[in-house]
Amino acid sequence: MPDIDPANKSMEEIVALCKRRGFVYPASEIYGGINGFWDYGPLGTALKNNIRDHWWKQTVECPPIGPDGEPVSIVGLDSSIIQNPKVWEASGHVGGFNDPMTMYKECKKLLRADHVWYVFYGNPDEIGKYGEDLTGQGVDVRSFFSDVFALEQLPPDERQRIINEDANLKQALGNTESLPFLIKKAVLAGSKEEAFEAAEFSSKQRKAIEKHGAKPLTTYPLMVPDRAWDDGGSLCPNCESRDSLTEPRQFNLMFESYAGAIQSAENKVYLRPETAQGIFLNYKNVVDTMRVKMPFGIAQVGKSFRNEVTPRNFIFRSREFEQMEMEWFCAPDDSPKWYDFWKHERMRWWESLGVSKSNLRFRDHDEDELAHYSKMCVDIEYKYPFTAPGYGELEGVAHRGCYDLTQHQTHSKQKMEYFDQERQVKGQKAGLSKDEINAQSKYIPNVIEPASGLTRGVLVLLTEAYTPDESRASKVYMKFKPKFAPIKAGVFPLVNKDGMPEVAQKLYMGLREKFACQLDAKQSIGKRYARMDEAGTPYCFTIDGETLTGGTVTVRDRDSQSQERINIDKVEAFLDEKMGE
Ligand code: ATP
Repeated sequence: MPDIDPANKSMEEIVALCKRRGFVYPASEIYGGINGFWDYGPLGTALKNNIRDHWWKQTVECPPIGPDGEPVSIVGLDSSIIQNPKVWEASGHVGGFNDPMTMYKECKKLLRADHVWYVFYGNPDEIGKYGEDLTGQGVDVRSFFSDVFALEQLPPDERQRIINEDANLKQALGNTESLPFLIKKAVLAGSKEEAFEAAEFSSKQRKAIEKHGAKPLTTYPLMVPDRAWDDGGSLCPNCESRDSLTEPRQFNLMFESYAGAIQSAENKVYLRPETAQGIFLNYKNVVDTMRVKMPFGIAQVGKSFRNEVTPRNFIFRSREFEQMEMEWFCAPDDSPKWYDFWKHERMRWWESLGVSKSNLRFRDHDEDELAHYSKMCVDIEYKYPFTAPGYGELEGVAHRGCYDLTQHQTHSKQKMEYFDQERQVKGQKAGLSKDEINAQSKYIPNVIEPASGLTRGVLVLLTEAYTPDESRASKVYMKFKPKFAPIKAGVFPLVNKDGMPEVAQKLYMGLREKFACQLDAKQSIGKRYARMDEAGTPYCFTIDGETLTGGTVTVRDRDSQSQERINIDKVEAFLDEKMGE
């Protein structure tokens, strides 16, 4: 079965499978759920742990070979989620970690103001006849215009109702030179650039469209993003009132709580919005206790919390999520080399999980997008079904300069300077003056930060694996790379008698020490295969009559559905080999 483009996978179906097969459940479901929070079921937990463990292994225990041919040095950390609130003042999160936010006055629905012009996208699959006509003319329908033509997507009476209620719209639709028609003309001509021109999108808005793979707005007054909160009125997708949006205002993403019995300002604490700061806080401890020398890294995996204004797209943007972050400390003049190294290393790592190269891309940040302290930043992006044909962020690799350590030095009054003995010796050997040696060997390290979302990684592997196949009983199977599959092997007695269950049990007991596997004797063999296909189990071993007489079992391959016989004594070696691939 060839790989399927994520653009042709349905998020609704993926979410349904996740629920049905115990990958991901909505949090607090029996109480109606809670927006932005998810629980990982038995299979989802196993998948998440497999990604996490692989990251830890390849980052901390067996880190990659550096540009000089030697393995790089990285140590692990597990810092507290709640820290002294001064940490977040120093890091800039309190006061600075804001999203601009706007609200529909009528229903109080909140929206990120910088998303407002693309949150209303329609379903490109439902473009219908219009889409077919355009496709016939060679226009890439999915890529651009679903929202521009939202009116065409609506049922006729609904469309008429909106048009009748809106004098501006009525006039616009009667005037072919009006905005929607200019855009329509441009799209018909097949040029995204012209359509951008027609919509008067600023360069920043264009970039955001490229970044988020976003579609422009649905209804007429919203087509020019800056007008979204003008009095022109906009159709609320929530309550359908024609209401104006409030002025955008800042919204702090930090979750707050209180440490101690009294809920006073002095006791206010924050749940960490990123794991990175815990690393900066312990940089000095690690240098003083671990005999590390520049360059080196500190890695951490753990939960982070952001009170996202609009959590959405399943586990892509949630309010509680997990990150895998590493801070790479190095001498300032070495930092460009290391930035380049980590950029490519991290892409290689995601590919090693079985993520198709064609679904991943780099997106270098333009200068005007960079945080003021950041020198360079690149996102590793994935083509999610809801961004396709565009891409969305999976990991960011940022050159953070010496910003964080300097901030903590200023706020805590603790020295973060590093004394580089090797550089000192080199300088002495080269006959440099004391001042020159000091200038080269005393510095606040620069930091390269590969920061990825573990839970976003789960979404990527779920999407990659999801493979509809009408020809099989389950109609879909999860094509995980064997190493990451939640269950590596199913062990089935063909029938629950004639000594087969005992042999199956013995095989299972031997395998389970090394591999996550399941013994299943219930239902027909076809149904058992179907269950394993949906769980993404790559191999199923069946004990049948021939096992009892000849000592062989069948092994069924999930992807090809082919079966071969191997000696029961070779099952462990077989799995060993497959897990290493
Ligand atoms: P975005 O632009 O998507 O909001 P970001 O640039 O704010 O992300 P970072 O602060 O760089 O994200 O965090 C590093 C990684 O953490 C991201 O690449 C992403 O994988 C993950 N991440 C960030 N916010 C969330 C969230 N709300 N839910 C799930 N994962 C997240």
